[in-house]
Amino acid sequence: MTPLVQGQGIHKRFGRLDVLKGIDFEVMPQEVACVIGPSGSGKSTLLRCINHLEKIDAGRLFVDGQLIGYRQRGEKLYELREREIAGQRRDIGMVFQRFNLFPHMTALENVMEAPVQVRRENRDSVRQRSRELLDRVGLADKEKAYPAQLSGGQQQRVAIARALAMQPKLMLFDEPTSALDPELVGDVLGVMRQLAQDGMTMIVVTHEMQFAREVADKVLFMDGGVVVEEGTPEQVVGNPSHERTRSFLARVL
Ligand code: ADP
Ligand code: MG
Repeated sequence: MTPLVQGQGIHKRFGRLDVLKGIDFEVMPQEVACVIGPSGSGKSTLLRCINHLEKIDAGRLFVDGQLIGYRQRGEKLYELREREIAGQRRDIGMVFQRFNLFPHMTALENVMEAPVQVRRENRDSVRQRSRELLDRVGLADKEKAYPAQLSGGQQQRVAIARALAMQPKLMLFDEPTSALDPELVGDVLGVMRQLAQDGMTMIVVTHEMQFAREVADKVLFMDGGVVVEEGTPEQVVGNPSHERTRSFLARVL
């Protein structure tokens, strides 16, 4: 089986700051990979590179066998055009720490927006699918609510439904519960857990170690722009072999 996501020797620099220093990783179809690590270790940057929000300086990144941002012909790489990049991005859903919903649109309109505007799909069929998605995230009764009328946890669940509306092959989550009040975290993690059970391939940056232990197939611990340790949750969270992993876990657990 080929990995759905594969990174080979990924390097990313911001000016003179080396943020990713040779990252290798694989995520198989239907796997959930949790990325943990201290602030500033490069976790968000890695997700942003997968989703074309940043361009890598060296290495290769594949999603579903396609080289991200490039076309390969023989030994040569050609940069993709804007349109082709948009095509690759469409297959990847991303949920951020901040919900970024369109404030002037209802929950249902937020979910419908991309399929209708970007993919030019039929409004009626998108509406039906979007209602099903709101139902799936437990918000069937909130379709007419505006973001300001929803709690942070509800907004984040709308954001998940909105990403799913584009029927992505891969979902990226960047600390999706970090901005939420503690009592709202569980509902969002519950939706993510269900999504994982339904077979979605997911990369989740999170500090929720309990979630990582229960849901992740693999955990990557990043520090200083490298993957220090990788393995099953039992290995990395339960019985880490590196001192850096142990001291990080001692701080977050
Ligand atoms: P994490 O998500 O693990 O906290 P980030 O990927 O956000 O880490 O950031 C890694 C490092 O890269 C940090 O030192 C951060 O300040 C730096 N960085 C991230 N984005 C940019 C940017 N656009 N320009 C300059 N530096 C950046
Ligand atoms: Mg981050």
